[in-house]
Amino acid sequence: MVENILVSVAWPYANAEIHVGNLTGAYLPADIFARYQRLRGRKVLMVSGSDSHGTPITVRADAENTTPLEVYQRFHESFLELFEKLGLTYDLFTSTHTSNHFDVSQKIFLSLLKNGFLYTAREMQWYAPSQKRFLPDRYVEGTCYICGFGNARSDQCDKCGSLLDPDKLIEPRSKIDGSTPELRETEHTYLDLAKLQPAVVEFLKQREGYWRPNVMRQSLGQILADNLHGRAITRDLDWGIPVPVDGWDGKCLYVWFEAVIGYLSASIEWSQLIGNKDAWTQWWHGSQSQSYYFIGKDNIPFHAVIWPAQLTGSGKTFDELMGFPNPSPLNLPYDVPANEFMNLEGQKISGSRGWAVWGADALTRYDPDPLRYYLTVNMPESKDTDWDWDDFFHRNNDELVATWGNLANRILSFTCKIWGNKVPEPGELTQQDKDLLAQIENGFETIAAELEAVRLRAALGEGMRLASEVNKYLDQTAPWIAVKTDKAAAARAVFTALKAIDSLKILLAPFLPFTSERLHGFFGNQQPLFGKQYIETINDELGSHKALRYDSDGASGLWEPSKLQPGQDLVNPQPLFKKLDISIVSEERARLGQK
Ligand SMILES: [Zn+2]
Repeated sequence: MVENILVSVAWPYANAEIHVGNLTGAYLPADIFARYQRLRGRKVLMVSGSDSHGTPITVRADAENTTPLEVYQRFHESFLELFEKLGLTYDLFTSTHTSNHFDVSQKIFLSLLKNGFLYTAREMQWYAPSQKRFLPDRYVEGTCYICGFGNARSDQCDKCGSLLDPDKLIEPRSKIDGSTPELRETEHTYLDLAKLQPAVVEFLKQREGYWRPNVMRQSLGQILADNLHGRAITRDLDWGIPVPVDGWDGKCLYVWFEAVIGYLSASIEWSQLIGNKDAWTQWWHGSQSQSYYFIGKDNIPFHAVIWPAQLTGSGKTFDELMGFPNPSPLNLPYDVPANEFMNLEGQKISGSRGWAVWGADALTRYDPDPLRYYLTVNMPESKDTDWDWDDFFHRNNDELVATWGNLANRILSFTCKIWGNKVPEPGELTQQDKDLLAQIENGFETIAAELEAVRLRAALGEGMRLASEVNKYLDQTAPWIAVKTDKAAAARAVFTALKAIDSLKILLAPFLPFTSERLHGFFGNQQPLFGKQYIETINDELGSHKALRYDSDGASGLWEPSKLQPGQDLVNPQPLFKKLDISIVSEERARLGQK
C-alpha cells in the first residue's frame, strides 16, 4: 500500500520573474496533484525552493552591480508571495542557499566519491588575467568561426546554432570588462555516468509503459542512441557550494548537480522544522512511498537520468554519513510527468521581449481560481499549448461562471430564500434523482483515476461535465417553477442538486481550492477543507532565509461523496466567480510586448 506521496516540484531560478508558462509547466500541476492526494488521506510531502546558485544569477548580479545574494533574495521573496497567493501548498518552499542544503549536497558528493563514481580530469577553461579568475562559458563572447557572427557565446553561436569549441573562438572577450581572456588548464570532478549507465537503464526500463512517451524518449531513448558520458560537476566559481575536498578552494559544485539534491535536502529541512529529524525517511526509503517530479520538458535529462544516477551511485552511503544505524538506499523517482511548453498568443513566451503574462501581475487583476482554471484546461500535458486572452475570457464566462459558479449560487440562494437557510426534507427520491447522484458519486472513481495518472486536464474536464449534468437536471426539474404548485417536488429537486453540488465542491477542490473552500462555508461548515499556508523566516549558519510552509492541521476535506442531511444550516451565498467584460481582451493584448 502506498501511503506516502512525495511531490517534488521544479526549482525556479532566482534570476527572473515567473510567468504563466512556468506555472502551468510544473508548479500548478504539482499543487493540484498534492491537494488531491491530501483529500485521499495520504501523507503528502510537497517540496521545492529557489535555485539560488549558478551563473544566471552571478551574470545578473554583475549586470546590476549588486551581489548574487541580493539578486537571489529579491526573486525568492517574490516567488513566496506569488505561490502563497496562487494557493500552491508547499510543505516547504525553501532555497538552495541554506546550510542544510550545503551539508546534504556535500554528503551526496562524498557518497559518490566513496562509491567510486567520481573522477577528476584536467580541461582548458577561459581565464581573465585582469580579474584573476576563471570565467564561465557564458561570460565569454567572440566571433563565430563558422558563420562570422560577432556576438557568439564561447560554447554556442546563437546566429547559426552551432556548438563551438572555445579554443577556436575568434577575438574572445570577457563580457564583464571587455578584456581578452586566455585559455588555462584547470581541474574538475566528473560524475562517472558511463559507469552508472547500467543501473540507470534498468531503472528506466522498469518505468516503461506508464511514463509519458516524451519523457521516455528523452531519457532511455537518448541513452540507447548515444551512451552516457562523464559530466563535470564542479566549476571555478565562488558563488555556490564549496567542493568538500581539501585543495579545491575557489571551486564549487556545479548548479545542475546540487539543485536536484534540493528535493532530498528540502525534505530533511522540513523534518527538522517539524521537530522530527528522521521524518523524511518515510518518503525516501521503502516501498510505501512514491515520488513524483513535476517539471518542464527542458529539465527531463536532469530528472530522469542524472538525478537517478546520483541517487543510485550514493547507495546506502548517504544514510551512513547521516549516522543511521540501519542504512538504506534512497528511493528513485516513481514518475516524472514533465509538461511541454505554453506559448502566448501564438508566439513563444519571452521575458526579455516582454512577451509574457507574469503570475504576480495577473493576480493583481484576476482571482487565483480563474487563473488556475485556465492554466489547467490549457495545460501542455502532451503538446505545446497557447494562452489566448479571448479564450481566457470565454472560458471564464461560458464555463467557470455559466456552468459551475451560477449553478452553485442559484440553487443555494433559492434554497436560503424558500426554505429559510436550511436543506429541505426531500421525501422519497425518484429514479431521476438517484441517477444523477449515482453519476456524481461515480465521479469520485473516474476523476480519481485521471488524477492518479496525472491527467489533470481530463480530470477537470470530467468534473465540469458532471456540473453540466446537474444543470440539465435542474432544467428538467425546474424547482423555481415547481415550488409554486408542488413544493414537495421542488424540495426533492433542490435537495438532490444541493447534494450533487456538495460533492462537486470536493471533486473540483484540487483545481479550484479557494472557491471550493468558500462554497464549503456556504454549506454551513465551520472546519475548512484544506490547511493554511504561511511564510516563515528560518535562521542558520549562512544567515536567514524565508520559506513558504503549509500546515494541514484542521483540514477536514475528504475524497468522498456528500453526506448532506435535511435540516443542515446554509449560509446566504455570494457569487464564486466574476463575469469578465470583453474589454479585458484588448486591454491585456495591449500590455504584451511592453517591458
Ligand atoms: Zn555562428
